[in-house]
Amino acid sequence: MVTANEQRFRELLLDWGVGNTREYPWRETSRSLYEVFVAEFFLTQTPADNVASVYPQFTEQFPSLGSIDDASKEELVEVIRPLGFYNMRAEALKKIATRCDSIPESVEDLTELPRVGRYIANTTLCIAQNQPLPVLDRNVVRVYDRVFGEVWPAAESDQWEFTERLVPNENPREYNLILLDFGAMICQSEPQCDVCFATEYCTYYQKHKQ
Ligand code: SF4
Repeated sequence: MVTANEQRFRELLLDWGVGNTREYPWRETSRSLYEVFVAEFFLTQTPADNVASVYPQFTEQFPSLGSIDDASKEELVEVIRPLGFYNMRAEALKKIATRCDSIPESVEDLTELPRVGRYIANTTLCIAQNQPLPVLDRNVVRVYDRVFGEVWPAAESDQWEFTERLVPNENPREYNLILLDFGAMICQSEPQCDVCFATEYCTYYQKHKQ
């Protein structure tokens, strides 16, 4: 159950998202579960623009887990070197491709894979399959902490619970993408409050506006 304040934030956030979200190749709705997984796997610890610079070549050269299984680690590294952590990433992808014929469709099975945590699992399944799962990265923590103030919990497990409660059942994919973009574009480390829709009831803004 969401409060009236939370519901209002969700509505305004969705309104803000119209025409304001970022476009990346892995966000195209035609992308397969595998293709979305690859993007989310790389997006951990690497800015989206860097991932976008190698993503088309990677997905063309390695269009499935089978093709990763057939490739050598060196062939993977050759493409993903600009992303950094390339040895670790290539080794993990090779292990995943050896273990699975296809990307698992549940959080439990996904998080069994090497280097795959709850964030990658949830984001992959939400973006690829519109599953109503919470995504919680540093941007989302910052946004909810600022907007909801003292109601935002300190413990990470409680933060996941809070975030899960706010994911709408209707089009969770859209909501989560907009939330991620809002944190990356407006409620940044240096917040752009002068162009934000949430000033009226944002706890952080109300405290700091003087
Ligand atoms: S008013 Fe400022 S601090 Fe609050 S959500 Fe908007 S950008 Fe973030």
